[in-house]
Amino acid sequence: MRVIALQSGSKGNCVYLESDNVRVLFDAGISGKQAQERLAYFHIDIRSIDALLISHDHIDHVSCAGVFNRKFGIPLWITQKTFKVAKSQIGEVKQVNFFTSGETIHFDGLNIETIKTPHDAVDGVCFVADDGKKRFGVCTDLGCVFNELPSVVQSVNGLLLESNYDPIMLRYGEYPPELQDRIRSSHGHLSNEEAAELLLHYGQNLEVVMLGHISEKNNTERQVVSTHQKILGNNFRAELAHYRTNSNCVYI
Ligand SMILES: [Zn+2]
Ligand SMILES: [Zn+2]
Repeated sequence: MRVIALQSGSKGNCVYLESDNVRVLFDAGISGKQAQERLAYFHIDIRSIDALLISHDHIDHVSCAGVFNRKFGIPLWITQKTFKVAKSQIGEVKQVNFFTSGETIHFDGLNIETIKTPHDAVDGVCFVADDGKKRFGVCTDLGCVFNELPSVVQSVNGLLLESNYDPIMLRYGEYPPELQDRIRSSHGHLSNEEAAELLLHYGQNLEVVMLGHISEKNNTERQVVSTHQKILGNNFRAELAHYRTNSNCVYI
């Protein structure tokens, strides 16, 4: 399996994953042109992608879903509730396939499990892709460490995990108190500490970790690395998932 974080964070999310026979994108929060160019850098034709799966209705995940479908003919996979709420952002689509959260979607040699999250979207999910040999989780916008999350982390060989904010930077940063409360609530995002603790306790099967959805206002790459190193010690071996051309591609 190969995974490329084309972009991760509040300015847009889009993750590419391929197994032997199937190529999928998770989320469409970057422009069609950006996705096309960034995939082309890895010699991947965006028109060869078999499915676009949407995690939830927030703009940084869904904004260009309609474009990906209309311009490149990528079939859209989304829950009905998310589609209803995001319809005005998505616009007309030629092909839409609905799944329900908790359902496993079957492609040719690749199953994609959808796991309901408590993040503050109408019907948010995170994903685990399983090709029968390896399992990779795409887990951002989680809300909190919800009941199923430890077993999800334990079950995967590779993981893109959100490490969204540093609590002190959030507390003393520029966000108004209501927005701060939203981020640290059980419907917001995981902090660096929460992400690192999760990896420490449940990451024993992980061969590859990408840390993503890193806040630009309430976090820094340096803070992410130092917190994870402090908690994980010698076990720390994560990549940071930003858009940095060739550094966001991993294999398991
Ligand atoms: Zn997001
Ligand atoms: Zn979100």
